Amino acid sequence: MDITPDNEFIKNSNVPGPTKEEVRCLVMCKSQVSKADVVVDVGCGTGGLTLEFAKRAKKVYAIDKNPEALKTTFKNLQKHGLDDGVDLIEADGTEVLDNLPPFDVLMVGGSGGKMDYLLKRGYKKLKSGGRIVVTSILLETPSEATMVMKDLGMEVDVVGVSISKGKISARGTMMVARNPITIVSAKKALKN
Ligand code: SAH
Repeated sequence: MDITPDNEFIKNSNVPGPTKEEVRCLVMCKSQVSKADVVVDVGCGTGGLTLEFAKRAKKVYAIDKNPEALKTTFKNLQKHGLDDGVDLIEADGTEVLDNLPPFDVLMVGGSGGKMDYLLKRGYKKLKSGGRIVVTSILLETPSEATMVMKDLGMEVDVVGVSISKGKISARGTMMVARNPITIVSAKKALKN
């Protein structure tokens, strides 16, 4: 799978991300993204996930309330020749979901305490067969996302990801732990 290495991202100290490459890989799998898809990425941050979706989807709407995040995401898209097909929207995700066309994938990388609202509004705009993916470093966010998705009648998949990377030196390879991440995902049932 073509996943951009972490060290190829332009970073800004005021913007979180990028989501680490191994986690981006899992998110792409869980989202089941394909070329016909419209993706909405709420909380695009550095653009780590936006970039991966841009490689694989028809159209991506990248949303962040932090203007610096949008600038950083744009720089990263441009650097990798992926800015075509991505709309950058400076807003709180809760304010714009209603104005977007129906989408196939809702990615939530940041919710700012508005997970319940984001998922419920997002679910309405999600096409049948569409997927929702939530990533979080916090403990509370995945449990809230799971509860809301269950209430929406979705079958929920929760994955805890703890990755260590080998730091290679003359003495040997030291495994360095990264922050554990939880990925919550679910699919909207197909209409009969
Ligand atoms: N997935 C990103 C990192 C996300 S960091 C990457 O790979 O680079 C989370 C981001 O969510 C932050 O930039 C924060 O500003 C944004 N955010 C949090 N709550 C938000 C909301 N309600 N609407 C829009 N953006 C939000």
